[in-house]
Amino acid sequence: MPPTSDRSAPSDHATLRVTGMHCATCVAGVERALRRTPGVRAASVNLAAASAAVETDPGIDTETLAEAIRKAGYDAETVDLNATTDDHTPDPEHARLRRNLTLAAVCTAPLVVIEMGGHLVPAFHHAIMGAMGERPLRFVLLTLAAIVQFGSGRRFYTTGLASFRRLAPDMNALVMLGTSAAFAYSALVTIAPALLPEGSRHVYFEASAVIITLVLLGRHLEASARGRTSGAIRALLKLRPATARVRRDGRETDLPAEQLRVGDEIVVRPGERIAADAEVIEGEAFVDESMLTGEPEPQRRTPGDRVVGGTVAQSGSLIIRATGVGRDTVLSQVVRTVREAQAAKLPIQTLVDRVTSVFVPVVIVIAAITFIVWQLLGPEPAFAMAVSNAVAVLIIACPCAMGLATPTSIMVATGRGATLGVLFRRGDALQRIASVQGVLLDKTGTLTAGAPSLTDVVLRAQSPHERTTEHQALRLAASVETRSEHPLARAVVAEAESRGLALSTITAFESRPARGVRARVEGAHVSVGSAAWLRELGIDPDPLEPDADRFAAAGKTPVFVAIGANAVACFAISDPLKPDAEESVRTLHAMRLTTELVTGDRERTARAIAGRVGISRVRSEVLPEQKAEAVRDAQRELGPVAFVGDGINDAPALATADVGIAIAAGTDVAIESADVVLIAPGVMGVPRAIRIGRATMRNIRQNLFWAFAYNAALIPVAAGVLYPLTGWLLNPMLAAGAMSLSSVSVVANALRLRRVRI
Ligand code: ADP
Ligand code: MG
Repeated sequence: MPPTSDRSAPSDHATLRVTGMHCATCVAGVERALRRTPGVRAASVNLAAASAAVETDPGIDTETLAEAIRKAGYDAETVDLNATTDDHTPDPEHARLRRNLTLAAVCTAPLVVIEMGGHLVPAFHHAIMGAMGERPLRFVLLTLAAIVQFGSGRRFYTTGLASFRRLAPDMNALVMLGTSAAFAYSALVTIAPALLPEGSRHVYFEASAVIITLVLLGRHLEASARGRTSGAIRALLKLRPATARVRRDGRETDLPAEQLRVGDEIVVRPGERIAADAEVIEGEAFVDESMLTGEPEPQRRTPGDRVVGGTVAQSGSLIIRATGVGRDTVLSQVVRTVREAQAAKLPIQTLVDRVTSVFVPVVIVIAAITFIVWQLLGPEPAFAMAVSNAVAVLIIACPCAMGLATPTSIMVATGRGATLGVLFRRGDALQRIASVQGVLLDKTGTLTAGAPSLTDVVLRAQSPHERTTEHQALRLAASVETRSEHPLARAVVAEAESRGLALSTITAFESRPARGVRARVEGAHVSVGSAAWLRELGIDPDPLEPDADRFAAAGKTPVFVAIGANAVACFAISDPLKPDAEESVRTLHAMRLTTELVTGDRERTARAIAGRVGISRVRSEVLPEQKAEAVRDAQRELGPVAFVGDGINDAPALATADVGIAIAAGTDVAIESADVVLIAPGVMGVPRAIRIGRATMRNIRQNLFWAFAYNAALIPVAAGVLYPLTGWLLNPMLAAGAMSLSSVSVVANALRLRRVRI
């Protein structure tokens, strides 16, 4: 999600791909460089996505931003979030990394063989010595180590030095300092041994070379694994078929999918993937939508139904008319949303960033102290051991795993969510949703299918000469309701249509959310809505109240119709529960969450529906603003809460709740106000979304533990604190191996989220 500051002023958003970042301090460095650039209002950098989301004043060139990042020692290029092709073009940074690693490995191998081999097999040592002599051999070692140090390891100098210049040393600085110390010392022994006391004339070329090789290896593994964290997006992009069979001017031709236009008629044969969002105009098929909604059952689609691009017509063939192509498809929207959410920062990340920004300077100080203490108090060769231990401290403390801990988990989790039909519009909702204590649910369209049908009509007993007929009441009410987007309105209109009633034109249409509608039809004011709506208009609904109560007790919604100042009819509208509504509520309860039904419908209806799904807390007859009030009350009582809704009337509550969850089939207003959108049919997505959040936070905490506890715990060992007691020291090469392993294990742990049971 692009960061926002001043919402009122117009602004531009840019996304850049940033390469060369490896830890939280790098992230902070890039962010600082961006924020200092004139015209930048906010910047948020994501390590795992290797991206920066920047909000700027209008008209700021993205190249200026890229330049600022380059000056800070990283590489940057602009990217298009809308890009609809496979975005994982081979990363040039990854390719460079692989080349550097290969060179480092080739040069390091002989170093290790000669040094270690010499230690382990004295005969081997003597053979080499005999063949070359001590000094020439050391010059060969020096050459190999120099290639690794300044060839493969050049990146540590460029980025490490840049970080020093910013006065915010990062992990590249630690690697640079550590390996330079080992290398410089050994080079000194080789070139000018006389400068050092006899006992200290050891060389450690293999140490600096092995450290660099291992750090590069760790990054290579990490980059490969990071590539997999965006696997979900790539999988979604692959759903798009390359061609579609289009019928234009009576002829069928295979067209590349990019050339499709809205209105095109597309022929979909059995087993084919649907190329665009469309409406079915002919045929019948079972469509597998599981890749987008997680719903395993294929759905039957007949003329008039909508189908979504990327889904598969399993059996049967269809002729469809495209309603959305290219970027304007549900699939593109999902990809765009997931990409934005993946760049988000969780609140917990701020803490991590603060810790790491002090961590590196502290480590440098500890390394300096280690060096001094060993030099002053350590056993001979004091200088050599002082260097080795200070190097071990610098290397083991690299906080790269910490920088990866949260972003990798977010990437995997949002991608996993998308494939389960749970779309996180905002990545930070992952953290908030994990801590919700209560879930408030709207009724119509959320717990119920939102496909209501009119079941009964009662007319008010009137004097015979002014009696309104059932048809008349329905015809007038339906005329008004044609203009309403409310599910109840659709039921009234559908019933009138099925009875073949001719609707009249209306004027002066008025709509009051959560109350009803009103317009002038055939010279009279016709009002349709709740009893409260009639009362608000000064019309007495009481003569029809007994019937309304009877309908409500059966879980149906009574809808009153008034002509002029008289209530003339009451319709019963029944909206079946979603098949999984009860299961969903039961699951929420099993997760120790409190549930509450919040609806604009009347008390009796609300209680009847709540009773069927097992919700005991009910708030009824609420206006949109009061839904938000219900959220605030629940927050005071329970703590963080989520609100689930679909309508315009739910928007304030969705925005007020700690997490707003919208039903994708609902109104755009609701979706825009929500943090999470459920694409899957049904409401099981609610407990699923919460489970994803909980699993993600658990995963992040594990990551932070492994990354941090481990760094911190081994620092004293590396410094040699245990040496006087046990004789333990941490070989700098082991430190490098351990450090790389910690990054890899963090990423591997995050990847587990792909398989965790939700
Ligand atoms: P919910 O909170 O369950 O989604 P709403 O707040 O949208 O329900 O609506 C509350 C009540 O307002 C409905 O039960 C109905 O009585 C009345 N109402 C709202 N809009 C209309 C409409 N277009 N036609 C008839 N009744 C309506
Ligand atoms: Mg609703």
